[in-house]
Amino acid sequence: TGRLQGRIAIVTGAASGIGKAAATLFRAEGATVVAADVTPGEDIVIADAGREEDVMRLVNSAATTHGGLDIFFANAGISGGLASIFEQTPQDWQEILRVNLIGPFLAIKHAAPVMKARGKGSIVCTASVAGLRAGAGGPAYSASKAGVISLVEIAATQLAGANIRVNAICPGLIETGMTKGIYDNARAAGKEDMIGHLNPLKRGGEPDEIARAALFLASDDSSYVNGHALVVDGGLSCS
Ligand code: NAD
Repeated sequence: TGRLQGRIAIVTGAASGIGKAAATLFRAEGATVVAADVTPGEDIVIADAGREEDVMRLVNSAATTHGGLDIFFANAGISGGLASIFEQTPQDWQEILRVNLIGPFLAIKHAAPVMKARGKGSIVCTASVAGLRAGAGGPAYSASKAGVISLVEIAATQLAGANIRVNAICPGLIETGMTKGIYDNARAAGKEDMIGHLNPLKRGGEPDEIARAALFLASDDSSYVNGHALVVDGGLSCS
């Protein structure tokens, strides 16, 4: 039997990249997965992770259709590019914070009561190494991801009494829809090896390598891990 046998999970941002890999892996490990995204796709429920009504609808559908909720992987995110502070507008900030930070807040707020009824739960939020260290993302993106790490620490302490663990993952550079431009430009310039140049492992990461970290945090394998930001970056942030 799989490590998520009988579990019910919601994964946001599941039409592409890390979320898609996680939905596939969670299913392979025995979970029933409600895969949500704003972009249509196979087995996708259309829902905006930064909109409270949509998050409530996802949680309600897990509870009523599948009988409960054990895992929420709040993974949906947008990058907003690498524009400087002087190029970004308050509207850019509002949209990036809405999806990347208010999204995980809504996931925690609405998943916790349903998980509480089941006696336990695991919430995993995708942050980024950009939330730990300047230079890996644009200003609003980095601030939103630092916010996710802080939110996870607060939520972990507030929900521990209900036996709900809350953790974050901090991926390094992973080849997905979000980073397609970086990879395409490097390949077009014949400089694909530049992607791995700064990384101790000399390569970028694959979505499945983040999905496996999400599986660890979602499953009972991490039963004593709580309020942690797990860096999965090949050693990039040490170099
Ligand atoms: P991706 O673009 O391939 O996938 C993100 C998915 O989220 C897309 O399918 C998109 O439609 C969806 N999405 C965007 N806004 C949404 C919303 N409001 N509601 C629901 N879905 C929404 O990118 P990815 O790299 O797989 O990104 C997943 C997460 O990983 C993001 O939070 C991102 O910030 C984070 N991350 C990515 C990297 C990387 O190098 N790719 C590094 C660190 C962190």
